[in-house]
This record gives sequence, C-alpha cells and structure tokens, in this order.
Amino acid sequence: MISIDKEFIKNHAVNSYPHECIGIITTNGKQLFYYPLNNTQNEVHKKEPAKYPWKAEIAYTVDRIEFDKLIKEVSKQGEKLIAFYHSHPDHEAYFSEIDKEAQTVFGEPEFPDAIHIVISIRMGIPNNIRCYQWNKNTYDFDEIKTYLLIT
Ligand SMILES: [Zn+2]
Repeated sequence: MISIDKEFIKNHAVNSYPHECIGIITTNGKQLFYYPLNNTQNEVHKKEPAKYPWKAEIAYTVDRIEFDKLIKEVSKQGEKLIAFYHSHPDHEAYFSEIDKEAQTVFGEPEFPDAIHIVISIRMGIPNNIRCYQWNKNTYDFDEIKTYLLIT
C-alpha cells in the first residue's frame, strides 16, 4: 500500500487555479517524490487551435521534451514513475474523454501501471480526489481504491 500526500497535489491545484495543474509522482521503493510539470495547454492552443481546441481551464498538455528530461533524471536517481495527477477546475474528479485521449495516444497508455489521480477544485478550493488505473481487459480506465491518500 502506498500513501500519497494529498497536500502537495492540493497546493499545486490551488496555485494553478483556474488552470489545470499536472505532475508526476515517483518512488525509489522507500519514499515518494512529487514533481510538478508545466501545463503548456494555453501556449499550444494559441499556436495550433485546430489540434489543441481546449484551453488550460479544461485540459493540460505537457511538453514532451520537459517530460522526457525529467523521466531520464529521475531514473538516474533510481526512481520510477508510479502516478500522474492533475486537477479539474470547477469540474468533478472523473477521468474524462480528454484525459483518456491524453493517456492513450497509441490506443494504449504509455505507462499502463500508473495511477491517475484527479482532484476536483471548485472556486479555488480543493474538493474531492479520485484515482484511476488502466484496465487492459476493458481498454478503459477504472476507478481504484487500492491506494491510500493521506491528508
Ligand atoms: Zn482531466
């Protein structure tokens, strides 16, 4: 059982409001590490509105170069990615169609074992948190209760 610190996710969601926040959680087997990522959604939306129709209030995009660099760094430190988290400003904590698209670029997720934590934040105040994981039998993301979220 892994205990994920809700405070870090809550603070990132509050500081990013009304935009979505996005980050990853890694582990070295002993402890967890939290890495916030930049949500570049508004920049890519401005540049390519046809490809990125959504604004940062309802979507996130992570810069591939920034992400790959971070993954390389953390694996050098002996850490591996166990979870993604992101916020839903003024929406419920559910795994949306946009989320599914973002995580299943080639039909299946790049990190099939990762937990996906979604935090709802309303009027800048953290609401509820839910966790999802890829189900390779149904090709969908199911809500999971396996992981303990500590306050
Ligand atoms: Zn989402």
